Amino acid sequence: MDEEKLISQLTKGEIKLHEVEDLVKDANLATDIRRKFLEQKYGIKLAHISEGSIDYSDSINRNIENPIGAIQVPLGCAGELKINGGYADGLYPIMLATTEGRLVAGMSRGLDVFNSAGGVNTSVIKDGMTRSLILRTKGAKHTVKLIKWVESGEGLEFLAKAFSKSTKHGKLKDVKCYTAGRDVFLRFRAFTGAAMGMNMVTIAAEAAVEELIGKIKEIGVDAVLISESGNMCTDKKPAYINILEGRGVSVIADALIPREVVEKEFRVTPESVAELNKTKNLLGSALAGSHGFNAHVANVLAAMYIAHGQDVAQIVEGTQAFTDVAVVDGGMYVSLFLPSLEVGTFGGGTKRETQQEVLRLLGLYGENDSEGKTRLALAEIIASACLVSEINLLAIQSAKELAKSHYKLKRG
Ligand code: NAP
Repeated sequence: MDEEKLISQLTKGEIKLHEVEDLVKDANLATDIRRKFLEQKYGIKLAHISEGSIDYSDSINRNIENPIGAIQVPLGCAGELKINGGYADGLYPIMLATTEGRLVAGMSRGLDVFNSAGGVNTSVIKDGMTRSLILRTKGAKHTVKLIKWVESGEGLEFLAKAFSKSTKHGKLKDVKCYTAGRDVFLRFRAFTGAAMGMNMVTIAAEAAVEELIGKIKEIGVDAVLISESGNMCTDKKPAYINILEGRGVSVIADALIPREVVEKEFRVTPESVAELNKTKNLLGSALAGSHGFNAHVANVLAAMYIAHGQDVAQIVEGTQAFTDVAVVDGGMYVSLFLPSLEVGTFGGGTKRETQQEVLRLLGLYGENDSEGKTRLALAEIIASACLVSEINLLAIQSAKELAKSHYKLKRG
């Protein structure tokens, strides 16, 4: 079909943006046509948005609708970090996609300090993507019967079998029920292979609940599905349930930095960092009613999620993280607990060209990883980088060097 004619039809409102694909049968060409239409309509050349190597025929509907091109975000490598984890073991390049000056530089300084102290230790303490669906019963008596059955061995076995019909890699781990009367929130938690798992678990949990509705009639419970997401999952909203129960990967990163290293490299004492952590990250956060007892985990999560093809909106729960600093024999013990790090090395944005390259650079693209080891390794790497950046920032702030360092880099 003639390009100019399509642009003219778009301009006159005779066709919609999403209809261009169907008409030209080529997602890459449709992308160019939509962009040219916008250029003409708004009288501005989108010379940079048109650049890039994304194959829109592969990303259409999977990652984007109505594409017109791509936004570019600078990618920096802060250096390598030594990680001693259950899944990440060795030296890993720390890659950050950001437009925030000082983030990569600060990370670089922190990496040197942590590497000279032997690196970061990481431990995964829980793993499972969750989705909560809402069933409405006829009242509390039905609710109690339903919960008792679902949480029984028989109920879990039934749901696990039903769940596995919709997914090869997903394995149901447990289902917890919450209620406030006739509405029952069933929080499914599943192992998801290399995938972050949100689509996988949503699809499989809904299919399992449809089977459950039929099954529980046998014990005299009538229930209907109200929603495939009841917000007790909790996806992309700050929520204490993710802190208490975990969502995605719950991981701890910790390290012991010798006193002489803290004093020489950070030019502060362990006591001053511990004091600032207590006052700022614990007391200040508590006073503010914050869920994030940390200095700036969001900065690192956002930059690493963009670089590694993660769902960036999920940094909301990722930032519910706890930084601890203690003065101990030999120096400064530091740790970061991230109860809810939702990451994947296959599916979602990991398929996109540049993001996949970053994962391949780390040796972590998860296409053949049904055990989820690449995903857990990625979680450990991200947690380690967050810890490094946390402690670097605390050290800068306790040395009152923050404004100076930003000024030096001429912040805009
Ligand atoms: P996905 O892109 O849906 O990919 C997961 C699929 O990959 C599964 O169907 C799985 O098949 C298959 N697969 C092949 N090899 C695999 C392996 N080694 N490990 C795991 N799965 C493998 O990814 P997702 O992680 O489930 O969902 C991520 C996407 O969901 C992101 O784009 C995110 O933005 C979006 N998202 C969705 C929701 C929602 O409510 N639906 C909410 C937030 C985000 P089997 O299942 O047959 O094993």
